[in-house]
Amino acid sequence: MGNRAARFTAPLRAAAIVLGVCTLHFMALAGVTLEVLRPDLEAIDGTMLSALIAVTSLGLSCAGLATAVSARRLQLERQRAATDEARRNAAFATALRHMSNGLVMVDAESRISAINERARTILGLDKATAPEGASLRDFLGGIGARQGWGADRLQRLARGHLDRLAAEGNSRTEEELEDGRIVAVTCQRTPDGGFILTFDDLTEYRTAEAEIAHLAFHDPLTGLANRRGFREHMQAVVGHGRHTALLVVDLDRFKPVNDTLGHPVGDALLVAVGERLTRAVGENGSVYRLGGDELAVVLGDVDEPGALAIAASLVSSIGETFDVEGHTISIGCSIGMTWLDAGERPTEGLQRAELALYRAKERGRGRVEVYETGMLEQAQERRQMELDLKHALESEGFELHYQPLFQLSDQRLLGFEALIRWKHPQLGLVSPAEFIPLAEETGMILGIGAWVLDRACHQLRRWPANIHVAINVSAVQMRSPDLVDEVVAALKRHDVAAERLEIELTETAMVEDGDAIAETLRRLRKLGVRIAMDDFGTGYSSLAHMRNFELDRIKIDRSFIDTSDDDIGARAVIRAVTSMAHDLSILTIGEGVETPEQLARLTELGCDVAQGFLLGRPLVQDAANNLVTGQQIEDDAAADRAVLALVRKDAA
Ligand code: C2E
Ligand code: MG
Ligand code: MG
Repeated sequence: MGNRAARFTAPLRAAAIVLGVCTLHFMALAGVTLEVLRPDLEAIDGTMLSALIAVTSLGLSCAGLATAVSARRLQLERQRAATDEARRNAAFATALRHMSNGLVMVDAESRISAINERARTILGLDKATAPEGASLRDFLGGIGARQGWGADRLQRLARGHLDRLAAEGNSRTEEELEDGRIVAVTCQRTPDGGFILTFDDLTEYRTAEAEIAHLAFHDPLTGLANRRGFREHMQAVVGHGRHTALLVVDLDRFKPVNDTLGHPVGDALLVAVGERLTRAVGENGSVYRLGGDELAVVLGDVDEPGALAIAASLVSSIGETFDVEGHTISIGCSIGMTWLDAGERPTEGLQRAELALYRAKERGRGRVEVYETGMLEQAQERRQMELDLKHALESEGFELHYQPLFQLSDQRLLGFEALIRWKHPQLGLVSPAEFIPLAEETGMILGIGAWVLDRACHQLRRWPANIHVAINVSAVQMRSPDLVDEVVAALKRHDVAAERLEIELTETAMVEDGDAIAETLRRLRKLGVRIAMDDFGTGYSSLAHMRNFELDRIKIDRSFIDTSDDDIGARAVIRAVTSMAHDLSILTIGEGVETPEQLARLTELGCDVAQGFLLGRPLVQDAANNLVTGQQIEDDAAADRAVLALVRKDAA
């Protein structure tokens, strides 16, 4: 409203001023008498003079107008600049208010020229203690008073920032406040000689970071440090080179708990185990969960008896029953121990402890074994053998040899036991005793066993129907759900009657996991396949097994045949076995017959069949073929048969 009125009155006021000026001007002119002081100018024409005056006046008026216009423009520019500044100030104030960071501007005279509320909130200050215009000293004093920081700390803080500012042009620190919050403080120079401080509350970020770090280094279930945490710690302790023992703890019988009672109970059990171990180790060291049911303990500054005593206490502590979710659970643990060498990599110590653990498990579990020199080399050899064995399996690197079995009553060749040989490129023919245990541990026995089955059936197809072949089957194969189907398929593939195939299984293998194996044996037997208990007398030597398992043959172990000459006990066992077997319609086979005397004794004790070097060594396929077709093969084979005839005559 006021502006509009001013717009109307301004021209009027200007006109009045112009009129006033003109009136004054002309009145003054009217009162002026011009006298010519210079006679030489008299000659100037009056008209000329008037024109001159008029032009001059016009010029002056134009100059005045131009001055007025530029004065106005200047004024407008000033107004615009003032408006812009006001706008900028308002924007700055808004930005300050809404910034997530705290901001404090300090001018060249060390006064607080601007401060936002966020800065006050972060630092726990209020407007009264940290006003705009306060000196930097008072501002810092306020922070110190609020956070309980002494002058020393404040001075160190300020000096640190100022030094870094001078050196690098900016500075950043992280400060922990009295209430535990973490605040990043940055400081930057401004062109006017002052500086800007910003405050950033990092508490949430740092907490999340710490949680992530904790998760990365700890097992969420047990809260124990995990494999990564273990590696970190190992790096630290190995560096110290102190007398540090590493124990790898493996839980025995944990899998059945998990399988039968379910994973929640398994998990709860692991938590309880972790707590028990932590308690038992106490101040002497720390406990880690490396994964699954494998845990580790690192004992610092211990001597050998001390470490062994702690390890033994861990075994007995885990051996006590656990009450978990209403279940009383009995497990145990095996421990492998090693000493950590200064400067070695964490994995090296772990590898040694695991080898010792492997031995502890091999030797019956529930015990502590310490790493011994040479174990590593053995393990490397084993690893190499594993690779070679795998290669052999893929490249038909095996062959079967056939050892003949003769019926004692009439020296008739009944059949053969197929015995596998590994054609090793460097070592030559390797005995199964050397690689079958490894094949069983690695599961490669399943592939090897399938190959043996196929080759044996293939060979049976080429031999007359009255010849049988026995193959050795390990407990691992017996537990495989595919075994029966594989046997059926192999017999069918080669069109061989099931009755011509025999399966030899050791007594130990039969008894482990008895029910499941008995069931598989029953199914095989139902097909017509004959079942032989191998190496009888080396395992449980229980006559009850003859009744419990449906058997067709019992192979009396070589050790009895060997000692039968002068050991009445061995003879008594052979007699008892043969007589009981006859009652149960089970055929008895004497293994490892090497001398005519042993053969005579076996016949005398009622054994039905014999196998051994005396009668025939394991033969390559062609030699076995020749034996079957009754051809004369080697001189010593003929001699063998002559011996057999001789012995039979003697026995009669
Ligand atoms: P086994 O089943 O008891 O086989 C008899 C072993 O005694 C054979 O050893 C045989 O060569 C040896 N032998 C036979 N007669 C005599 C003798 O008069 N004196 C002596 N000192 N030894 C004799 P081999 O071939 O080294 O086999 C060792 C063991 O390896 C076998 O014992 C059997 O348990 C296992 N085996 C052999 N082939 C296979 C196979 O294909 N699969 C599986 N799972 N195991 C096999
Ligand atoms: Mg055998
Ligand atoms: Mg045997």
